[in-house]
Amino acid sequence: MRRVTFLLVAIIMALLVPQSINARTGVTYSPGASEFSIETNVDAQQVKLRIYKAGLGGKPVKTINLKRTQKGGTLWQTTVKGDLKGMFYTFDVKYNGKFMGECPGIWATAVGVNGKRGAVLDMTETNPEGWSADSRPFIAAKDLVIYEMHHRDFSIDESSGLEHKGKFLAMTEPRAIEHLKELGVNAVHILPSFDYASVDETRLDEPQYNWGYDPVNYNVPEGGYSTDPYKPEVRIREFKQMVQALHKAGIKVILDVVYNHTWNIEGSNFQRTRPDYFYRKNADGTYSNGSGCGNETASEREAMRQFMVESVKYWVDVYHIDGFRFDLMGVHDIETMNAIRKAVPQDIFIYGEGWSAGSCAYSGELAMKANVSKMPGIAAFSDEIRDALRGPWDSNSKAAFLGGVKGNEESLKFGIVGAIQHPDVDYSKVNYSQKPYANEPTQMIAYVSCHDDMCLVDRLKASVKGITTDEIIRLDLLAQTVVMTSQGVPFMLSGEEMLRDKKGVHNSYESPDSINHLDWNNLERYPQVMDYYKGLIAMRKAHPAFHMGSADMVRRNLDFLPTENCLVAFHLNGRNVPGENWGDIYVAFNAQKRARTIEIPEGTYTVVCRSIKCNEAGMGTVRGGKVTIPAQSALILHN
Ligand code: CA
Repeated sequence: MRRVTFLLVAIIMALLVPQSINARTGVTYSPGASEFSIETNVDAQQVKLRIYKAGLGGKPVKTINLKRTQKGGTLWQTTVKGDLKGMFYTFDVKYNGKFMGECPGIWATAVGVNGKRGAVLDMTETNPEGWSADSRPFIAAKDLVIYEMHHRDFSIDESSGLEHKGKFLAMTEPRAIEHLKELGVNAVHILPSFDYASVDETRLDEPQYNWGYDPVNYNVPEGGYSTDPYKPEVRIREFKQMVQALHKAGIKVILDVVYNHTWNIEGSNFQRTRPDYFYRKNADGTYSNGSGCGNETASEREAMRQFMVESVKYWVDVYHIDGFRFDLMGVHDIETMNAIRKAVPQDIFIYGEGWSAGSCAYSGELAMKANVSKMPGIAAFSDEIRDALRGPWDSNSKAAFLGGVKGNEESLKFGIVGAIQHPDVDYSKVNYSQKPYANEPTQMIAYVSCHDDMCLVDRLKASVKGITTDEIIRLDLLAQTVVMTSQGVPFMLSGEEMLRDKKGVHNSYESPDSINHLDWNNLERYPQVMDYYKGLIAMRKAHPAFHMGSADMVRRNLDFLPTENCLVAFHLNGRNVPGENWGDIYVAFNAQKRARTIEIPEGTYTVVCRSIKCNEAGMGTVRGGKVTIPAQSALILHN
C-alpha cells in the first residue's frame, strides 16, 4: 500500500514539476561518439552545432541540427559518431527567425583560444602525474590565513626569479612555494582564473594586464595564464599542476568567482543560448546594473541558481578547489548562497563581498553583509575593520586609526571580535554596522587591504601627511597585527609582506606590470617587514586563543581594556582555550605618535611582539602594572 502511494505521488510529482534543469550540458566525449546537448528557452526555433578543426578560424567540417529531446521541451541533443577528440564546436540558437551567434554554450569545460569555441577532450588525459593522489589539505575555517594574489603580479618581475612569469605554473616552482611557506599563509586566493575576456590570448607575447573580472567561460581556466592557450588541454593540466603543488605544500587554493555579471550581454554565452533569462531587468525593461559592470545575473532563477551550484561543485570535483570568494556576493540572493553552501563539503570555505555596486532588480533578500547571519558557514569581508584602520572607501586621502584619527576604536573592536555580539563593543559607535552581523567569528574576513583600492603603503602615503618610511613600516606592521589577532578569518594582499606599492594607483585593474608587479628585491630592502609578518602569522597559528572559532568562546575569553583615542587593548584568557599554552595574553594597539601605557595585573610577562619585532618564542620579559606601548605599534605579552 505504502509503495503504491509512493509511486502515485512520484508520478503526480513528475507531471506537475516542470522539466528539471539539465545541470551540465555541452559535450560528452567517448572515442566512438560524442554527445552534444544544450538548454534553451522554450521558444527556441532551431539549434545548429558546428564542428571545427581549430579553436579559431577555418570553416566548419560539419554542421548538424540538434533535436529537441521532447516536444515543446528546452533540451536539445545530438550524437556525432566517430572520434572527435581534438576538435572544436559551437552552438548557434535561433529565436524569432534570427540566429543569436555562435558560442560554446554555458557548460564548456574546455575551449580554444579566447574561449570562442568549445573543445572536445578526453578529460582524463589532462591529469598531471599523481593527480589521483591529490587531496584538499584539511584546515578549519578558524585556522585559515588567506593570501590574495594575482598570477601576473606575483611572478612577472625579473626579481621574482620565477621561470613561468605570469602563469599558473609559477606557483609550482620551489621559490614561490617556499616563499608562501616561509610567510606562513595556508590558503592562496587567486584572482579570477576562469576564462575571462580582457586579455587577448592570441597576443600573449605583448604585455597585457587585467584583474579578470569579466567572465566568458566560467568552467574553464583562463588561457592567458597557460603556456599555450591554443591547446585546450594545456591550461587544464597546468591549473591542476598549480593546485597539486600548493596542496603538497599544505596550502589551500581559493577561487575568486564572478557569477554576478558577465563581460557583456550581447555576446555572452548566457544571452546567446537563453536570451534575457539569466539577467535581471528593471521595471522599464532596461537591464539592471547592480554589478556596476553593465549587467547583473539573476541567481534567483532556477537555471541560474543551478548553474552556480553546479559550477562551484565542478571546480571542487574536477580541480580540487578548496574555497570560493564571491565577487559582489550582495548581487546574489540568500537562497542561492545557502544552496551552494549545502552542495559542497563542509571544509570548502565560502566568503564574499557582502555588498553590490549598484541597486539590484530583486525584491527578495540579497546576500549582503547584514544578512550573513542568515547564511551559516558563509563569511563576508569586514569593511568596518578595514576602514577603521586605513580610512573610508570613498576617499583615498582620508586617514583613520593608523593616521592617528580618533573615533575608530569601537569599529576596530567590532573587527577584533569577528563581527559577533560582544558585551564590550559599543555598536552605536561602529562605522558601518550598528549591530553585529556574524553568528560566528569565522563569518567575518579581517583585512586592511586587497586588490581593490590602494595597497597599504599607498594608502598610508596618501592619507598621512609627511609620513616617513620608518612610520610607513611601523603602521603597516601595526595594521597587520590587528588583522592577524582578529577572531575573524585573516586575509592579506599578496606583496604587503614586500612592502609593495602601486605608485598610488587605486583601481589598477588594467594598469601595466610596472604598477602591479611585486618587487621581490624589497625582501632584501625591508627585511624587517617579512620578518615581522612571518613571526606574526606563526604566532597566530601556534595559539588557538587568537582564533577560537566560536562566538561563545570569544565572548567568554576576550575582554577589552579601557580604550583611549587611537589606543585599543584586549585580554585573552588562554587558560580556557583548548590547546592554548599561554595563560593571560594582552594585546595592545597604539596608533598615537607617542608611547602610551595600559594597566595590567602584576606579574611577569613574556614579550612576543613589540615595536617592529614579533617572535612567538619571546623577546624578554616585563613586569605587570603600567606597561608601555611604543608609538605607532603593537604590543603582545603573555604569562
Ligand atoms: Ca580568456
